[in-house]
Amino acid sequence: MPKTAVFPGSFDPLTLGHESIIRRALPLFDEIVVAIGINAEKKTLFPDEKRKAWIEKVFAGEPKVKVVSYTGLTIDLCRKMNSNYILRGLRTSADFEFERGIAQMNKAMLNSVETIFILSSPELSAITSTIVRDIVRNGGDASAFVPKGIVLK
Ligand code: ADP
Repeated sequence: MPKTAVFPGSFDPLTLGHESIIRRALPLFDEIVVAIGINAEKKTLFPDEKRKAWIEKVFAGEPKVKVVSYTGLTIDLCRKMNSNYILRGLRTSADFEFERGIAQMNKAMLNSVETIFILSSPELSAITSTIVRDIVRNGGDASAFVPKGIVLK
C-alpha cells in the first residue's frame, strides 16, 4: 500500500512555510494530499478555487503532491484517501500545544492515524497566513512570503 500523508490546512494563502514543510516531507511519503479544509462558517480572504489552483501551480512538477478540498473531519478524509499519516508543521511552542490536542484527539478517534510533525525552518517560522492576509488587506506587498508564481490578488 502506498504511504500517503494528508496535510490539512486553510492555506489562505499557501506560504513559503507551508511549501517548505511539504517539500521536506516528500522523501518520507509516496504521496502527499494537500487538503484544503472548507468551513462554511470561517470566512477566508481567498476563494477555495484560487487557494487550490495556487497549490497546484506551485507543485505542478511534483507528481507526489495532490490537492483536494474537503469538509468534515480530517480523519474521515484519511479513511477516504487510505492515509495513515497526518502532516503538520510546528513553528512555536504555542503551535505545539494546539497541535498536541488535535493529534491526540484524532488518534483517539482513529487509532491507525499518526500525526507527523516537521519543525519550521528558523527563517520561515515567523510567516503565517494570518499576517500575509493582513498585509494584503492593508495594501502591502506580501510577495516575499509566498512561493513564486502566487500573485496575491
Ligand atoms: P490551519 O488553519 O489548520 O492552522 P494553516 O493553513 O494555517 O492551517 O496551516 C497548516 C499547517 O501548516 C499547520 O500545521 C501549520 O502549523 C503549518 N504552518 C503554517 N505556517 C508555517 C510555517 N511558517 N512554517 C511551518 N509550518 C507552518
